[in-house]
Amino acid sequence: MLSALEKYDPQIYELITQEQARQSGALMLIPSENYVSQAVKQASGSCLTNKYAEGYPNKRYYEGNQVTDLIETIAIERAKKIFKADHANVQPYSGSVANLVAYNALIKPGDTIMGLNLSSGGHLTHGSSGSITSKIFKAVNYDVDFKTGYLDYDAIADLAKKHKPNLIISGLTAYPRQIDFSKFNEIAKSVGAFHLSDIAHIAGLVVAGLHQSPVPYADIVSTTTHKTLRGPRGGMLLCKKEYAEKIDKAIMPGQQGGPHMHTITAIAVALAEADTEEFILYAGQILKNAKRLAEKLMEYGFDLVSGGTDNHLMLIDLRNKGVPGKKAAKALDRARVVTNFNTIPGDPAPPLSPNGIRIGTPAVTTRGMKEEQMDRIAGFIKTVIENVDDESVIEKVNREVLMLTSQFPVPDHFMLPGRIKKHPLTETN
Ligand SMILES: *Cc1c(COP(=O)(O)O)cnc(C)c1O
Repeated sequence: MLSALEKYDPQIYELITQEQARQSGALMLIPSENYVSQAVKQASGSCLTNKYAEGYPNKRYYEGNQVTDLIETIAIERAKKIFKADHANVQPYSGSVANLVAYNALIKPGDTIMGLNLSSGGHLTHGSSGSITSKIFKAVNYDVDFKTGYLDYDAIADLAKKHKPNLIISGLTAYPRQIDFSKFNEIAKSVGAFHLSDIAHIAGLVVAGLHQSPVPYADIVSTTTHKTLRGPRGGMLLCKKEYAEKIDKAIMPGQQGGPHMHTITAIAVALAEADTEEFILYAGQILKNAKRLAEKLMEYGFDLVSGGTDNHLMLIDLRNKGVPGKKAAKALDRARVVTNFNTIPGDPAPPLSPNGIRIGTPAVTTRGMKEEQMDRIAGFIKTVIENVDDESVIEKVNREVLMLTSQFPVPDHFMLPGRIKKHPLTETN
């Protein structure tokens, strides 16, 4: 697939080859990362990147959209089916854009939004001080309970009563527990606020029925397509019928020009992959692996925020180990164990040198790793953190990780051949 690149741009070819080697030789534990199938990669690298398709199926501003109309319609219908949503928009360029579009659809500049604090596991676009969302809107942040690490719905309700936000965001980027979207909805409705639910991280778990779905509750649901959902890098919005037109307009002309049709094509493929028994098994194994990894780490004396996990990720509070998050993450990376440093709830340290690291199991689970391998990964983490200044120990772990990963090659497909049925839309054409 890369032979043209090898011939015409050997420098970039060489770098892609290096990145491929890094991805296959490392334990990718960043919870927002995953490996897509060969089918998704091919769709994403296809000629659909050449096409301008501003507008929506059968309502385009450019000619030549006979095929893109069919592809986008299939993507929309697959999204509606697996999320059981009235309406889907598959055009947002990313999760961040999807959130901005949702705000744009529901509220006005100067209105108040209320989302989970960045340092408690929220996302930048939920009204963080560095984000444009806190400049356009008045941002109020709720936190998790610093003692337990859990969301405190009573405290969130009190804060909502006090600030009367126009929109409340439920969703996580570093929260290791399940979220009760129905409670969020009650809180939002009790103060007359809209409810946006951002399931960027957990979309795959929601599709598999392993996390409560916000679709019946929230006014709008935003997501990325590339995290647990295991599609190409992109975003998506789901909503009830009454907001369909608002959302579509907020994207185009509201915020974007031409949709990335190659990405939408790949999203269509990923959504079909997610609509299989194999995917449900996969999502179940993500959770089993996360539980096991958390248990093992706690056995080794690691302090996990909230005392464990019931989703795909966990946050390690490293203060009892005396190693700052960044130093830990860098040392782990030298051992081919790739994580990210992260604030922990109530972290007294600044965000650039926080006390925690965040790890998750979606990518290693895609490689077929199970509980037994989680025990080994916990061992690697323990060894590196406890020998963070000893390069010879780190080098030894590096070699062991390379051996382990070589036994679990990155798969190029996830389901039985021929599993995706031809869509009726294309049969009539
Ligand atoms: C990852 C993430 C996003 C942003 O997605 P991008 O595609 O990186 O823009 C938004 N919200 C949450 C909760 C996320 O975890």
